[in-house]
Amino acid sequence: MGRASSNPMSQDVYDITIIGAGPTGLFATFYAGLRQMKTKLMDALEEPGGQVAVLYPEKYIFDVPGYSKILAKDLVKCLVEQALQYNPTLVLGERVTTLRKADSTFQIGTDKGTAHYTRAVLIAAGVGAFSPNKLEAPGVSEYEGRGISYFVKDKSAFAGKKILIVGGGDSAVDWALNMKDTAAKITLVHRRDVFRAHEQNVAELMKSRVDVKLFYEVRKVLGDGKSLKQAVIFDNRNDAETTLDVDAILVNIGFRADLGPIRSWGLEMNGRDIKANGKMETNVAGIFVAGDMAGPADGVKLNLIATGYAQAALAVNVAKAYIDPNSKIFPGHSSEMKK
Ligand SMILES: Cc1cc2nc3c(=O)[nH]c(=O)nc-3n(C[C@H](O)[C@H](O)[C@H](O)COP(=O)(O)OP(=O)(O)OC[C@H]3O[C@@H](n4cnc5c(N)ncnc54)[C@H](O)[C@@H]3O)c2cc1C
Repeated sequence: MGRASSNPMSQDVYDITIIGAGPTGLFATFYAGLRQMKTKLMDALEEPGGQVAVLYPEKYIFDVPGYSKILAKDLVKCLVEQALQYNPTLVLGERVTTLRKADSTFQIGTDKGTAHYTRAVLIAAGVGAFSPNKLEAPGVSEYEGRGISYFVKDKSAFAGKKILIVGGGDSAVDWALNMKDTAAKITLVHRRDVFRAHEQNVAELMKSRVDVKLFYEVRKVLGDGKSLKQAVIFDNRNDAETTLDVDAILVNIGFRADLGPIRSWGLEMNGRDIKANGKMETNVAGIFVAGDMAGPADGVKLNLIATGYAQAALAVNVAKAYIDPNSKIFPGHSSEMKK
């Protein structure tokens, strides 16, 4: 997906910066745009969608308002389309590490060393920042970004290549199927014979021209110093090695979520949750929280997409009145707005 702004790292002061591009953050981004707020959306991952995109993209969801059922990855697509309508700035692939007040604005710092300025902050960080599990084998770190990747940013970069895909979940199986007709050859290695992916897709994979090697793992990768050339894989039942010529390795072995430095931002917490009042305000004026990371003071904690949507709408509309006291909290009805 494209970035909505050309210069996301400028010193511009945004009205609201939303940390976390899961369903809560995406819906909040849309709402902030509707309220004509200058909006920035940040996520540690290269792709938006949070848990929905990372943990269960191929599963149907049955309790999202307006859909009797919807495939998780299709919901993310719809949320992104809705969120981008008002041209927010997207900063993806950067984990927010610091959040501090500087005069009347907040300064946000990231693991890429960039600084971002904003008048209000909405933390929609879910269960924490996601990062891909790394493949642990000699040579991998040397060729990361030079043949070895954890995401497909541009599918055309894999066209005509000999690809090794590592993993047995939805992402691995999906990408193998997606690129089987454009790649020169695809080998998929999975350390077990049980897949975590959607069974219909696994059945399609097994019938396809993808060379599926079960009980195989990567032992090491080799290159010429500039680019990746080979992968040595082994059968974990008998240790027999096979050397494959490869141009690209796509590693899809899951993600881990990490709360990271959020605890040091001066916010009152309850376990993994940031405490919120009924307006989704935290103990720091100007910082709001919504979604799975919110711990409503007197409310019931219900970690669902629908709950996050409602909290996002509340938080953004309260934030609007916070940065512009002449604004009402109630946004009016979108159905009565001119487009
Ligand atoms: C297997 C499974 C099935 C589910 N099924 C359903 C269902 O059927 N119906 C339903 O309603 N709910 C379901 N849920 C729950 C639902 O997915 C969550 O409630 C929802 O994703 C919460 O959205 P969120 O935006 O608050 O957080 P998340 O989806 O967790 O998104 C948070 C985002 O914030 C980012 N982030 C965190 N910290 C930082 C940081 N410091 N810097 C930058 N970015 C950061 C993360 O990378 C992540 O992308 C399911 C959950 C799981 C695990």
